[in-house]
Amino acid sequence: MECWDFKQECMNRESIEQLQLERLQATLHRVYKNVSHYRQTFREIDFMPEDLSSLDDFRRLPHTSRQVLMENYPYGMFAVPLREVVRLHTPALNIDEPVVIGFTANDLDNWAELTARNLSAVGVGKDDVVQISLTFGSVTGPFGVQLGAERIGASVIPMSSGRHSSQVQILRDFRTTTLVSAPTFALRLYRTMMEQEIDPKTLQLRIGIFGAEPWSESIRDDIEEKLHITATDMYGLTEVFGPGVAWECSEKQGLHIPEDHFLAEIIDPDTGEPVPDGQEGELVLTTLTKEAFPLIRYRTGDLTRMLPGDCPCGRSHLRIDRILRRCDNVFVMGGSRIIPEQIGKILNRISGAAPNFQLLVEREEDRDRLDVLVEISNDLFFDQMKKQRRFVEDLHSALSEFLGWEVGVRLVEAGAFDPAQPVVDKRNIR
Ligand SMILES: [Zn+2]
Repeated sequence: MECWDFKQECMNRESIEQLQLERLQATLHRVYKNVSHYRQTFREIDFMPEDLSSLDDFRRLPHTSRQVLMENYPYGMFAVPLREVVRLHTPALNIDEPVVIGFTANDLDNWAELTARNLSAVGVGKDDVVQISLTFGSVTGPFGVQLGAERIGASVIPMSSGRHSSQVQILRDFRTTTLVSAPTFALRLYRTMMEQEIDPKTLQLRIGIFGAEPWSESIRDDIEEKLHITATDMYGLTEVFGPGVAWECSEKQGLHIPEDHFLAEIIDPDTGEPVPDGQEGELVLTTLTKEAFPLIRYRTGDLTRMLPGDCPCGRSHLRIDRILRRCDNVFVMGGSRIIPEQIGKILNRISGAAPNFQLLVEREEDRDRLDVLVEISNDLFFDQMKKQRRFVEDLHSALSEFLGWEVGVRLVEAGAFDPAQPVVDKRNIR
């Protein structure tokens, strides 16, 4: 068993809970003192941080939603002055959904430890060459992986995504052993290898760590068979670090959550109440060590369940099931979180009306595809072919610019889809 931090990762249950309680008390004091949103919500329910004597008391506290983060944009949720912040990230695609996340130097240090645990848990060590083929931008993904790989002492190649031929050349020439990317990107690289007549068996590649989009066991089998590697899952969200929030160890039996840094709960997304152990619900996370951007009972929107029993790897931290879907209409494509309302705003601006639309997400062999279906109505230039064509072109270019990749736009007759269902995700993620 490869354990980066044996003491923390294999701590007994009683010690984990004691440590969580102590860190939670410190976190609640800090947010009460420094974050007016939390001070106000605690006062509303007549709760003082010193009232916390058990984890049960904690469940009295209200949840934090993404809406709260937007209402306190830009720095209202920060628990330290800006001069102590050394890094800023934003998970939002544009200023319509503004959220900014800060990190202190200690936050970055903890983040490096967490992603180092993730990489070690799948066998990455000092001698490895880690190619990071996630898009370097305002989201946290590749930065967290880079910190952890460097902490371990591996050699890092920060490649970003795209440029398939160059990626394959570097995989081969730099003798990359570990690929970190979206799973469909790995399949795209396989296709490039086939086009270039490069046999994956001749590469040094042995480990793949994949995230940034939902993926199934069948995609895992496909990647492992084609690339001759072991493929593992990682999970994170920018609001709560990014990578380093949960990961599979080499047993591939669920994702461990580092309980010394996070308190995880599963709730019923409709009632907000905890679900019985083992039942699916929404993942809620509380940060226990974050200095700049602590979050109390943050609703991730991601559906999962706690897995029972101990992991054969010996780590004592709890495991959650792989996350394949959400409890809202938000979906993840190519590492970006897409909110249907954002698409709706652009559509309304271009059309000058508010037509019904549906987002259709499909997975082609090695890439995901988004089509926006727009219902033609009397308002929307019914029977005016020239105007329709121009509208499709304008919408296509506005959406492609917004998302940073090509989006399909199709006009359809009324009744072609159910307007109450704004997103249809047909990706084979089970
Ligand atoms: Zn394990």
